[in-house]
Amino acid sequence: MSDSPPSEASIAQHITQFERELGGAKTARDAQAVRDRYLGRKNSVVARWMQSIAAAPPDEKRNIGRYANELKQEIEARWKQYEEQAAASARPAGAVDVTLPGRAPLLGRRHPLTIVRDELERIFTRMGFTVVEGPEAEDDWHCFDALNMPPEHPARDMQDTLYLATPITGESGRADDVRTLLRTHTSSMQIRYMQAHQPPVRIVVPGRVYRRDDLDLTHSPAFSQIEALVVGEGISLADLKGTLLAFARAMFSPTVRVRFRPSFFPYTEPSAEIDLSCWQCDGAGCAMCKKSGWIEIGGCGMVHPAVFEAVGYDAERYTGFAWGIGIERVAILRYQVEDIRLFYENDLRFLEQFPY
Ligand SMILES: [Zn+2]
Repeated sequence: MSDSPPSEASIAQHITQFERELGGAKTARDAQAVRDRYLGRKNSVVARWMQSIAAAPPDEKRNIGRYANELKQEIEARWKQYEEQAAASARPAGAVDVTLPGRAPLLGRRHPLTIVRDELERIFTRMGFTVVEGPEAEDDWHCFDALNMPPEHPARDMQDTLYLATPITGESGRADDVRTLLRTHTSSMQIRYMQAHQPPVRIVVPGRVYRRDDLDLTHSPAFSQIEALVVGEGISLADLKGTLLAFARAMFSPTVRVRFRPSFFPYTEPSAEIDLSCWQCDGAGCAMCKKSGWIEIGGCGMVHPAVFEAVGYDAERYTGFAWGIGIERVAILRYQVEDIRLFYENDLRFLEQFPY
């Protein structure tokens, strides 16, 4: 290879040529060969330029030396850059590059039903209620008998119940006289709490309940409820309505109104269905309230004296109220969800739409 004599112009030419050859190198061995042709100790471009200093006329030695050094530095800089890029792209799969920014861990998030349940609990805790939970596998005494639904009571047919084959030990300590089931309502925990505590009572009971329902747009064999129980001296229907109003205004809208419609439950007397004025149309009628202006949210009533008798409370001295609402029902209204099944399918496309 014959070189043009060292000069500014030939430095630029060599650099261009070096870059072209390096760009064309297919393997590390090719690239190394290109490098050696320019920077090798013997017979490379830089080496020949260095050697030519000795033979040059005295007044040119200095310039040739300067050109040779400049070429050497330029080629070395480009070679270093090439090596770094090659090292980065040749990193084996799975290797850790500690210079990369950290990867944020994928955080879980609360399920919409958990968000709603947490909010319900917060509202009632602020109002002075204690949150308690109870067993989902229950005996029929706590679930029915103690709640004024004796075995022959027709109300027991209102709820189609999932009975368990394996008995749990009942109140009597014997398994043989107890039928076990998945609780049909959280009210069984009212009984357990009253058995263990004397009035005054002020509790909310959130939790999962089970009924023999087919899964469709609005029903599920497993769903969740929250219910309240207040017992004391002089507790009245006005306390019940005021509590529900305070809850509805904290949960849905500060202008919501509460309406009671007469109803029947074996464990309360009188009993009522709870309607809230529609907070989207303020009672004028819209799609959410099905043009009625009202939204049904749950059931309530004054605790039946027979329930107090079952737990040993003095029904002459104490009165109380109870209500229950579906947590799914609140979530459906809060988030405008059309299909209850979305809450149970664990589809991330649905779940990721809710706040943490
Ligand atoms: Zn409406």
